[in-house]
Amino acid sequence: MTTTSLDWKKIAELNQDAALSKAPAILEWAAESGLKLGLASSFSAEDTTLIHLLNSAIQKNPSAASRLHVFYLETGRLHEETLQTMEECRKRYPDVVFQGYFPDQSKVETLIREKGLFSFYESIENRKECCFVRKVEPLNRALKDLDGWITGLRQSQSVTRANLPAFQLDADHGGIVKLNPLTAWEESDVYKYIEENNIPLNALHRQGFPSIGCAPCTRAIQEGEDIRAGRWWWENPEHKECGLHAGGSK
Ligand code: SF4
Repeated sequence: MTTTSLDWKKIAELNQDAALSKAPAILEWAAESGLKLGLASSFSAEDTTLIHLLNSAIQKNPSAASRLHVFYLETGRLHEETLQTMEECRKRYPDVVFQGYFPDQSKVETLIREKGLFSFYESIENRKECCFVRKVEPLNRALKDLDGWITGLRQSQSVTRANLPAFQLDADHGGIVKLNPLTAWEESDVYKYIEENNIPLNALHRQGFPSIGCAPCTRAIQEGEDIRAGRWWWENPEHKECGLHAGGSK
């Protein structure tokens, strides 16, 4: 892991800076910062929006291309539609690097041999174990050499994200920077921006999936349901994080 020059005081200043209240300005700040940053993508609407903004920031500041990239966690259980969106993005944004991280093969083999392919339905512990093997450990590898990461998290997505700031230091990953440029956006803002800019949209969204995740753990929702209701729908809302965005960020 590299060391950033940002501390809690600087992060607080960035969150108060009116010039950095808009998502494009935050991505441009990222490009000018000199920091090595990865945009974590599940190829949801929020993430393809951010990929578009990241590409725009790179076009304005080409020297940033070597320090900014998109990464994704290839859990082995993703929807076909998500993989297709990934390919669409690769073609649409050729100046952006897309780096996949796969789970440790032997850990997946052991998990499946001992507990089967659907152990995550049996208990929260089993679900967290699968998320750790397929998501958390690969994420730790993805972040290992970075100064920080960029996420598509929004405050209105869930009770666990209600106070999410745009700039954080991520204590769970060694105090690196965590940028949440869309934190103040509503879902309608995201879709409006996608339509106006003809940004690739994961086909699952048109099938009633507001949130994109692994196929066995994500379902479409009914009208009026919470937008995270389709993720790990058999669990209580307070458990609905996979360990990628735990509580150690400020
Ligand atoms: S979301 Fe489901 S399939 Fe994906 S890593 Fe977590 S438990 Fe495993």
